[in-house]
This record gives sequence, C-alpha cells and structure tokens, in this order.
Amino acid sequence: KPITTDMATLTQEIDKYARDKKFEIETLHVREEYRKEFLGNISHELKTPLFTVQGYILTLLDGAGNDKNIREKYLDRASKGVERLIFIVNDLDMITKLEVGDLSLQMEKFDIVELISNVFEMFEMKAAKKRITLTFDRDYNDPIYVFADRERILQVLNNLIVNSIKYGHDKGTTEVSIENLIKNKAIIRVTDNGEGIAENHIPRLFERFYRVDKSGSRKEGGSGLGLAIVKHIIEAHDEKIYIESELGVGSEFSFTLEKFK
Ligand code: ADP
Repeated sequence: KPITTDMATLTQEIDKYARDKKFEIETLHVREEYRKEFLGNISHELKTPLFTVQGYILTLLDGAGNDKNIREKYLDRASKGVERLIFIVNDLDMITKLEVGDLSLQMEKFDIVELISNVFEMFEMKAAKKRITLTFDRDYNDPIYVFADRERILQVLNNLIVNSIKYGHDKGTTEVSIENLIKNKAIIRVTDNGEGIAENHIPRLFERFYRVDKSGSRKEGGSGLGLAIVKHIIEAHDEKIYIESELGVGSEFSFTLEKFK
C-alpha cells in the first residue's frame, strides 16, 4: 500500500479508521447486550419449572409423601415440570444448532399431503380437549411431492399447529391448506380464528423468546422459541414464511416449499 503524503487524504484515512473502530466496538457492544439478554431469558425460562419441581420434591420430603394419593399427585406434577425442562432444552439445542449453521438438511422427496395427515393424527387429542376443529383443506386427492427435510418440516408444522391450538379459542378451528402452484412451489397455510396478534408485535414475533403476552403465554407453556425455530428452518431451505394476523380475528402462517420435479 503506498504511503499517503497528502495531509487531507491522511486525515480522511484516520477518520475512517476511527469510524470503523468505533463501529466495531459498537457492534460488539450490541452483540454483548444480545448475548446477555439471551442468557437472562434462558435462566428465566428454566427457573420457573425448576422451582416447581423443587417445590414438589421438598414437600414430599417434608412428609407429604406418606399419603399415597398426594405422593402420586406430586410426583406426577414434578414429572411434568421435568418434561417441560427437557422440552425447553431440546428447543434451545435446536435453535443453537440452527443459528450456528450446524444443522445440515437431509433433503428428500416426500408427499406433503401424507405428512400433514400424520401431523393431524398427532393433534387430534389436543384439539379435542379445546373442542377445536382441525380441518385439512386441499385441492387434490393426489400426493404432492416436495423436496425438503421431512423431519424439519414436520417440526415447522408441529410448532405452527401447536400455536394455533394454544392461541385458538375454545370451539375454534385450525385449518391447514396446500396451494399447489403451477410453478415449482407449493404454499402451506396454517390458519386459525383465535386471539390474533396486534400489528405492532408482528415484526418481532420470530425473535427467540419473544412473546406477546408474557404471563398468558407462560400459562399455556411453550418456550418462546417455536416461531424462531420455524423461521430458521424455512430460511435454511431458502424458502419464505409469511404471517397475516388481526387481533381478535385470527392468524395465518404460510410458507413455501419446493415441489419435486
Ligand atoms: P411460545 O412458546 O410463547 O408459543 P412461539 O415462538 O411459538 O413461542 O410464539 C411467540 C408468540 O407469538 C407467542 O407467545 C404468541 O404471543 C404469539 N403467537 C404465535 N402463534 C400465534 C397464533 N396462532 N395466534 C396468536 N398468537 C400467536
């Protein structure tokens, strides 16, 4: 690199260097803040079920366990708390792998119609508990073959349907539909007529741990990671995810998939 002799250029270069450095420091600072917030969120998410489990165990140790009924009830609740912890840790593991780019996709040809039918069977009980009607609307009776990572797409459908039931009203509906576009894409939609989301929350919805109503969501369980995972998986496929929602009316999440040619 030639040595700059011109004073004006030199000043400019020094200024630029200082700006770059400042920028570097600022970005580091933001990243550090982000990391702190993330760690804060994790410990908060883990603490609640941990304290619950600890509470039940301590009460049992205190003598409550002498009564068979109480013992079983408390052990059951402690076990549910542990289940929740495992669920959160699994989600965390998944999001970390996705964010580090450590999760290679296992691309294969599969029938998305069949996959959705399978997912529906898994949710029948959960939906019935809230008397939510699950409907699968599609134009064709034939298979629609897509090229994607089957397990990950299963997870996407799972997370979206869990939410539509969780944030759906009693006796509401959840509908999944496939639009088989003539081009090389299919669009999968998960629609509910549940509580909906106010416009100002929509841009932040896919952030990890972001929740519209903290207390309300926590009552419903979940890790606050579901949509962040969905977004990562869809983007890893180079596909797109869309959301349309209106408070008090309902929500529609849709994503594209590559059709198998
Ligand atoms: P959570 O574990 O809290 O459900 P998600 O990442 O899956 O985390 O969702 C983030 C937030 O988005 C939820 O807490 C909820 O406020 C909102 N949300 C997601 N799906 C829906 C839906 N179908 N209807 C209304 N709100 C939703």
